[in-house]
Amino acid sequence: MLERVKKAAMRFDGAGRDVQLVAVSKTFPAKDMRPLLDAGQRVFGENWVQEAKEKWPDLRKDWPDIELHLIGPLQTNKAREAVALFDVIESVDREKLAGVLKAEMDKAGRNLPCFVQVNIGREAQKAGIAPEETVDFVARCRDVHGLNIVGLMCIPPADAAPGPYFAQLAGLAKQAGLEQLSMGMSADFETAIAMGATHVRVGSALFGGRDYGTPA
Ligand SMILES: *Cc1c(COP(=O)(O)O)cnc(C)c1O
Repeated sequence: MLERVKKAAMRFDGAGRDVQLVAVSKTFPAKDMRPLLDAGQRVFGENWVQEAKEKWPDLRKDWPDIELHLIGPLQTNKAREAVALFDVIESVDREKLAGVLKAEMDKAGRNLPCFVQVNIGREAQKAGIAPEETVDFVARCRDVHGLNIVGLMCIPPADAAPGPYFAQLAGLAKQAGLEQLSMGMSADFETAIAMGATHVRVGSALFGGRDYGTPA
């Protein structure tokens, strides 16, 4: 999989631009992380604070250079724990969260890189800031709240070709003066790399299908 990411980067961007594989490990137990860690992978993504808290502190004892990304929606009452557990927050999606995150980072003495999540397909069920509000929101996150915004993140609609959405996100990042683009998952990361992704978030292609469990 690391090889496929490297190949896609080479193919679409002769220069061999660096694309960071974020290994999305939600629902998979800590023991499944170890083979990847042994292979040299250090950057991982988790969706939920609670699950990250159960898995990663122990793994960090053995691999102190792990970089953990929060890629799921964050409730403000979990912001303190998120700031303690994660190294990058990819899902800044509303003003209130931006303010609370910065306050918690100040208290913790951390200044985490953040991505603004954009609801690129304007889907009712998805988190993220509306595309047309993104440039203003990035400016407010930086100037009003003092967050270190480094890029944009999106999850395009499941039932449409993702290319145009990735291109739109890249355009918004350019307008906002941001260089990093977190886009592309197992099904579409090669397209995302072709459209300029700097981070691809890949889960099932690495770990297999997810089992969310059956209700008790
Ligand atoms: C689960 C998830 C992924 C990974 O999805 P796969 O299809 O398993 O690669 C990427 N990004 C986010 C935000 C996710 O929730």
